[in-house]
Amino acid sequence: MFNSKSHLDPVDWDQIRSISNRMVNDILNHLATIETQAVWKNANATTETAFQGALPSPSRQLDDVHESFLNHILPYSIGNAHPGFLGWVHGGGTVVGMLADMLASGLNANLGGRDHIPIAVEQQVVAWMRELFEYPESASGLFVTGSSMANAIGVMVARTKALGVDVRKTGMQGVKQRLTAYTSTAAHRCVSQALEMTGIGSDYLRLIPTNSEHQIRLDALQQAIDQDRRDGHLPFCIIGTSGTVDTGAIDDLKSLSEIAKREGIWFHVDGACGALGRLSKRFAPLLDGIQYSDSIALDFHKWAQVPYDAGFILVRDSVVHKATFASPAAYLRREQRGMAAGDPWPCDYGPDLSRSFKALKVWFTFQVYGADRIGQMMDHTTDLAHELARRITKESELELLAPVVTNIVCFRYRCDNSNETNAEIVIRLQESGIVAPSSTTINGTVAIRAAFFNHRTTEREVNLLIEETLRHGRDLAGKQ
Ligand SMILES: *Cc1c(COP(=O)(O)O)cnc(C)c1O
Repeated sequence: MFNSKSHLDPVDWDQIRSISNRMVNDILNHLATIETQAVWKNANATTETAFQGALPSPSRQLDDVHESFLNHILPYSIGNAHPGFLGWVHGGGTVVGMLADMLASGLNANLGGRDHIPIAVEQQVVAWMRELFEYPESASGLFVTGSSMANAIGVMVARTKALGVDVRKTGMQGVKQRLTAYTSTAAHRCVSQALEMTGIGSDYLRLIPTNSEHQIRLDALQQAIDQDRRDGHLPFCIIGTSGTVDTGAIDDLKSLSEIAKREGIWFHVDGACGALGRLSKRFAPLLDGIQYSDSIALDFHKWAQVPYDAGFILVRDSVVHKATFASPAAYLRREQRGMAAGDPWPCDYGPDLSRSFKALKVWFTFQVYGADRIGQMMDHTTDLAHELARRITKESELELLAPVVTNIVCFRYRCDNSNETNAEIVIRLQESGIVAPSSTTINGTVAIRAAFFNHRTTEREVNLLIEETLRHGRDLAGKQ
């Protein structure tokens, strides 16, 4: 089928049409019947060895390779598309996003820059995010892999704001004052990594304790800033979290914005989990204050269900954003006309030059479902989390370990040896393939953590989680 010597296109396009119909059908069938399958299962040895071959030199038929996909890849993904997947913070994906991604691959656009409409599509999504977060027209935005990268960019731009663009040349070598940043102990570990990548060092990220709601303590934050100023340091960035990874807690963003403003410090929000909750009428008030931030990291691939990966950074001050990354180069010369015209060039706003057309699957998602419907889907997942919390408080053998703000529930099976038992319950649940939470530790106690980020999850999975937890808990505790 691909035996032309001069190019890699099919020789017989009708034949490829029939195989591609089958490929699309197979993945649609998989999604249409996903609840009848296991959330996750371990691959057997045959499958493991299928990925240990040498670089293939003879050619194989496309349908034969697709057969390998069906047998050895499809059944063994982590299972986040499955309604019973309740672990970590994973979106479920949609058919719409999948098809859009296929079109984007076919187009094979490079979104680094230049004059073409795919850039306008990305800028359309940027404009939507400006609207959603009440940012000014002049704000800039960029698709990146995920919030890990988006948070790093936020911190890098904050560093430019604090030290000026010369820091790009001198690095931290010439900087006499120590820069200090602030976030809570509940922040995602990628915030520490961001400080490491900027050369500031994670020792200079002050991890501020949290209150009983798992929000950053404002009094402790103020004290830490004051202490750093007394010590001659330069406080430069506060990182608030809207939706912590352990419990879904949302920092008091309004108060953080006020502290940042008073102190003249950059205010960045890690909104990976929850920022897009602005799409939900019910949830939006909890995020009040996010509109006063200087930058926001968020993930379309989590709560908004866009297929991986689709992270995003929004920056209020596009001038300092661009000044952090733009570099002249002969081969990136801009013209007034022709293909090398166009503005902006996304490569000026982040470390990537070649960039995929992630914006298309987001554009399709918002066009097809509409923003309200996505907000309602978020409400639905939040309802399920609250329903689970209600069920837990009614079961004497179970205990809720953190307040449920949005869509994350942390609880345990009450017993002696609680930590070991609950860790084992989670592993058994995952291995059962029926319903799969993850675990975390809340104030030293191992928690079963159920995160409702999948639009396919229903009350059925809530029931299964309760029943199966009780069953394994009783078994492990030696009760009937
Ligand atoms: C998922 C998550 C991140 C990391 O985002 P990626 O998209 O996985 O890179 C950062 N912060 C929080 C709160 C998260 O939930």
